[in-house]
Amino acid sequence: MGFATLVLSIAVVWALAYWGAGTGVWVAALAALLAVTTIGTELSGWVVVPLWTVAAAAVLLLGVPAIRRRYITAPLFHQFRKVMPPMSSTEQEALEAGSVWWDAELFTGKPDWQRLLNMPKPHLSAEEQAFIDNETEVLCSLLDDWRITHEDRDLPPEAWRYIREKGFFGLIIPEEFGGKGFSALAHSEVVMKIASRSVTAAVTVMVPNSLGPGKLLLHYGTREQKQHYLPRLAQGDDIPCFALTGPDAGSDAGAIPDRGEVCYGDWQGKRELGVRLNWEKRYITLGPVCTLLGLAFKLYDPDHLLGEQTELGVTLALIPRDTPGVQIGERHIPLDIPFQNGPNEGHDVFIPMSQLIGGSEYIGQGWRMLVECLAEGRGISLPALSVGAGKTVSRFTGAYAAIRRQFNMPIGRFEGIQEPLARIAALTYQMDAARTLTLGALDIGEKPSVISAIVKYHLTEKYRRCINDAMDIQGGSGICLGPSNLLGRAYQAIPIAITVEGANILTRSMIIFGQGAVRCHPWVLKEFQAVQNPDRKRGLADFDHAIFGHVGFVLGNVARSLFLGLTRGRFTRSPVQGPTRRYFQQLNWMSAAFALSADVAMMTLGGALKRKERLSARLGDVLSELYLTSSVLKRFEDQGRPEEDLPLVQWACENSLYRMQESLRLLFRNLPFRPLAWLLRLVVFPTGSPYTEPSDLVDRDAAQLVMTPGAARDRLTQGIYIGHEHHSRQADYERAFAHAARVEPIEKTLRDAKHAGLLRSKHAADRIDEAIEQGIITQEDADALIEMQALRRDVIMVDSFPDYGKQYARQPKGSKKPAIYAV
Ligand SMILES: Cc1cc2nc3c(=O)[nH]c(=O)nc-3n(C[C@H](O)[C@H](O)[C@H](O)COP(=O)(O)OP(=O)(O)OC[C@H]3O[C@@H](n4cnc5c(N)ncnc54)[C@H](O)[C@@H]3O)c2cc1C
Repeated sequence: MGFATLVLSIAVVWALAYWGAGTGVWVAALAALLAVTTIGTELSGWVVVPLWTVAAAAVLLLGVPAIRRRYITAPLFHQFRKVMPPMSSTEQEALEAGSVWWDAELFTGKPDWQRLLNMPKPHLSAEEQAFIDNETEVLCSLLDDWRITHEDRDLPPEAWRYIREKGFFGLIIPEEFGGKGFSALAHSEVVMKIASRSVTAAVTVMVPNSLGPGKLLLHYGTREQKQHYLPRLAQGDDIPCFALTGPDAGSDAGAIPDRGEVCYGDWQGKRELGVRLNWEKRYITLGPVCTLLGLAFKLYDPDHLLGEQTELGVTLALIPRDTPGVQIGERHIPLDIPFQNGPNEGHDVFIPMSQLIGGSEYIGQGWRMLVECLAEGRGISLPALSVGAGKTVSRFTGAYAAIRRQFNMPIGRFEGIQEPLARIAALTYQMDAARTLTLGALDIGEKPSVISAIVKYHLTEKYRRCINDAMDIQGGSGICLGPSNLLGRAYQAIPIAITVEGANILTRSMIIFGQGAVRCHPWVLKEFQAVQNPDRKRGLADFDHAIFGHVGFVLGNVARSLFLGLTRGRFTRSPVQGPTRRYFQQLNWMSAAFALSADVAMMTLGGALKRKERLSARLGDVLSELYLTSSVLKRFEDQGRPEEDLPLVQWACENSLYRMQESLRLLFRNLPFRPLAWLLRLVVFPTGSPYTEPSDLVDRDAAQLVMTPGAARDRLTQGIYIGHEHHSRQADYERAFAHAARVEPIEKTLRDAKHAGLLRSKHAADRIDEAIEQGIITQEDADALIEMQALRRDVIMVDSFPDYGKQYARQPKGSKKPAIYAV
């Protein structure tokens, strides 16, 4: 009876924690258990009386709010106030910017999958689709990337003209201001397609539609500012840039030394109240050609012309290029990707208050404005560029692996090549899934700052992985630059994508989990706000609610993690049946494991977790992989579960689950409180570590998908530039690839005949003649084989240059070092 009662007690406690029972249910259930124990085990009065006394005391202490607050919550509250890391207003604004969405669901430890699957699949309007099929296609055809990157070091004038005239700079500006008013999805599709043709052009189009004057004016501009500037930006009459970064403020952009002082000055012949500015900025995209400069600076009011306060905080302004004192510098060379980029300075530049974005009302709000806009823009531009690169290499490097032959076989038949090729294909599938899911969220009005950081970081990193793999597969044809090279510039561009819009190491180490832990966790932000509440009484009451909610949440995740760990996720709910069912179940397990591990790390390290960047990064990795895998499963459902795509789904899910497991294991290995880390590991992985990287067979199938013409390959690479109608390198690959598939059976017939000893000629050309003579193949087959040789040669040939030495020996123009570098 004693043993049975013990088992029953454990089962009840476990179930209550697992289902997150409320205080009343806990009290009732524990009282019932105590009663069963008392009666069933015939305990002596010496045991029963203290047992019931302790139970009654616990009920009083925990169940009566006034007592609980006084004896438990208040001491905790004071302790929290002491240990809570002090937070600058900049950090606080950054933390509170944007919204939370599916990321918060992943933090619960029991995501509601139906909510994700019910979300409508994002789609393009007819007008958006037409712009992509027509104007964007034409723009791509105007771009000769070799000429742009090697000869002109700029877009051709006709492309600049076309971009401005056709409204590429006004994709996000509403129609009422003369812009396109496109959805986030359409904006992304345009950038993705251009990126698959020319990174230089993609960056040029991307920047005015991302963080810059256009977006800032849309969100915060005064009516007059919107009416004046938005139509000019939409039509390309003004070319914008946005200048935040300077020599002393890169990642730590809040530390900008650039200054504005409130004063009176002359503006267009009138004396006005305004700001005198001094700044030094660098790396500014479109800076050299801009006509309208968006500027971030710190505003001061030393003469108190606006009020009592002297330091007013980060503020944003619009500076016309021709304003006296503005100096637009020369051009930087960002790794041979010659989009316009350079430094600029301002010396005693005077602007009236009406040039501050949002006017006086938004003085000092600049940091929040930037972070909010970044929460949106970061989820669009660089992810689109990265997916453009992933799709390009999936399609063309996949084709190359089918066309290029070594050891008498297409190189894609070798397992060594299948491994990186599968990775390219499946990571592209995953990147595109995450891109579209995020765009769907943006298009329903979310501003998910944590998710946009996840996609910025992970998609640019996967772009790096894919392009490196493609380089390995294509060997010399990827390395030798020239008009025939499809990979070189995308390879050179990767550090730019990694560095801009939040450098990746910083994003992984500080932002993803750092922001996610506070924003997405169901209780932490509430605790945080309660502790910082200047109204102590209200703060204590809120804290009491949050801290006990948090305790229940942790207990629930302990119970869930252990149960799911023991069963490896089986017996949990999946919203679907079939081949992806187990992945949903495994994600339930990993979500609970993540939520518990995050809480243990936060509870044991507190504010010190901010400095333990590698622990924070690993937790961020798990959260990110949960998001990426969710997006893969959602895409598979949205696309009607096409069976041919399963190798990609399988690869992406298995790889992500393995990475989650390894990140958690490394986290446990490095948590400073060792006994707790061991315990945590036991709870999360009670039956060992089940996940491995995808198998060789999955690799083979995933690689085969991009070496075979058909719907799956087209679906994977949909939306990139191919240029069938124009002469392009991409079209050369397409022709050779399609032909390779046609001649494959003929080549097999020849191979079989050779193995059977029917063909004895040593050379391929002689063997074809011999096969015709013997009636093994027809003349038509032979012609197809000969054509294949020509097409194959066309694809594998690389460029060579007679004037290489001269080109590169040329001295850079303007080699004088600007003052900006004289540090
Ligand atoms: C081609 C190009 C275009 C750009 N366009 C613009 C533009 O239009 N407008 C604009 O304002 N800016 C622009 N930038 C600036 C860009 O946003 C910055 O380069 C970026 O913020 C990083 O600053 P940094 O290069 O000075 O690197 P640093 O800040 O010096 O960082 C160096 C390294 O340290 C890491 N790091 C920094 N702090 C931490 C930390 N706490 N923990 C871990 N790692 C950390 C970073 O991740 C990075 O890896 C552009 C930059 C480039 C290269």
